[in-house]
Amino acid sequence: MTILDVSKSYVRIFEELTKIPHGSGDEKQISDYLVQVAHDHNLKVVQDSSNNVIIYKDASLGYESHEPVILQAHIDMVNEKNSDSHHDFTKDPLELVVEDGFLKAKGTTLGADDGAGVAYIVSILLDSNLKHPPLIGLFTVNEEATMEGAFNIDMDLIKAKRLINIDGEEEDSSITGSAGGMDITITHPIHRQNTQQEGYCLKVRGLLGGHSGAEIHAERGNSNKIIARILHTLSKEGTIQLSTFKGGLKINAIPREADATFTMKNDAKCREIVDKCIQEIQKELEFTDSGLVVTLEKQNIESIIDEKTSQSIIDYLYLVPTGLRHKSDHLQGLTTSSENLGIVDLTDTTFEFGLSVRGALDSYVQDLADEVQTLAKVFGFDATTENWYPAWDYMDKSPMRDTMAKVYKEVHNGKEIQMYAVHGGLECGIFKGKCPDLDIVAIGPNIYDVHTPDEKLDLASFDRTYSFLCKYLENL
Ligand SMILES: [Zn+2]
Repeated sequence: MTILDVSKSYVRIFEELTKIPHGSGDEKQISDYLVQVAHDHNLKVVQDSSNNVIIYKDASLGYESHEPVILQAHIDMVNEKNSDSHHDFTKDPLELVVEDGFLKAKGTTLGADDGAGVAYIVSILLDSNLKHPPLIGLFTVNEEATMEGAFNIDMDLIKAKRLINIDGEEEDSSITGSAGGMDITITHPIHRQNTQQEGYCLKVRGLLGGHSGAEIHAERGNSNKIIARILHTLSKEGTIQLSTFKGGLKINAIPREADATFTMKNDAKCREIVDKCIQEIQKELEFTDSGLVVTLEKQNIESIIDEKTSQSIIDYLYLVPTGLRHKSDHLQGLTTSSENLGIVDLTDTTFEFGLSVRGALDSYVQDLADEVQTLAKVFGFDATTENWYPAWDYMDKSPMRDTMAKVYKEVHNGKEIQMYAVHGGLECGIFKGKCPDLDIVAIGPNIYDVHTPDEKLDLASFDRTYSFLCKYLENL
């Protein structure tokens, strides 16, 4: 094990950050720490009511007439630990470990997402030897949960048209756009009647799942949709009455598992129909999600929902769109719109379906949400929307991007930086929504396995990306 080299200011600052608790929603201490740092170095600072911090630094000599630049990072981290770790995220400092050139935290997330970005910005703000335009250090809270810091920021405090977001995880690439989205919840009351009869239990297992922003393009199976499809097929043969239906854990995760229990009239062909469906779906998923396992077992059913509501639920879930909808012709590989039927849950008195929709343009999001809601209306179900966030639409002309590409090439001996837009939501979209002509780039050092206790920061990449960032500022 090696010792962390704290002779570099950004490494020393990063180490400081790991001593202060800063899980999402628990940023007061780290926010106060940043304010103190600014005071100690006579930098103008504002802490807003959300605990966002804004620190201002004048241009260096000769850069006074240059347009100001916002340097932005989020100050919260995802608190995750191994089951055998006794770490208390509300008070314990992280236990840092250096191994094979990587910085890790023992048994917990490291918070390099986004402590690396925070450390860079503080280091730049405190260094009087750098050349740069007027700088605005913007430190936002709660990016990982609600993005409330970005939503609540008063743009009058950050009057600039150029922003560098330092929340990237790949040194050799830069993000150029992100998705907008929202969540939709469909609900309806249900009435159960007690019964005692033999029915069935249908289970879907073995799917890959994944994040609905990062993996929806992979066309993996959706356990909720698979159950709905099988039940829909069965309902053409004999009346189905649902007892339970539960699938998915998070609205923004492609559901991997789902279970339904039900009764069926005229069930002589039930197993035959299910087997045929399974074969067909397995064949369809042969190359994208080959682990699918569906089981059908007899089960005693003790309560059921009436025939009409059962059929409505099955038909709605069968019809509601999910998965990849559109891909970009302009930006290769980019998903431009998608839906994810993340959650299905029948309780004693209601049912609830949770869908998240995403789009590279706000109009896509609006259109998909409208479609899902209209379908709900046709069935007489309630639909509510929440957690809306705007898209960061790719800008064809971006001087910030052009300069970045040029400087990256110089610093990396002719190597080109990769640029791509993502289908996940970023704070950049929110800033862009508030200030449409903001020119944004997003960068960061190599960080692996973020949001898990295996999170690790590549220290050589941490050094290189800092040098690159300083050089970039010099050219702005
Ligand atoms: Zn992050």
